[in-house]
Amino acid sequence: MGDSAWWSCPECGSYAELSAEETVGFTVECPDCRGSMVSQWVWEETSTAA
Ligand SMILES: [Zn+2]
Repeated sequence: MGDSAWWSCPECGSYAELSAEETVGFTVECPDCRGSMVSQWVWEETSTAA
């Protein structure tokens, strides 16, 4: 098993789930607009300050 990470494209808003092991240290190219995607490790869980 491996960690997966969500990646989002700030340019067109696309999301992609990719293997963290394959993408660590690399720039992920957006399949839609060829922009650079950014990793969203905790995109669903929101850590709120207690
Ligand atoms: Zn894009």
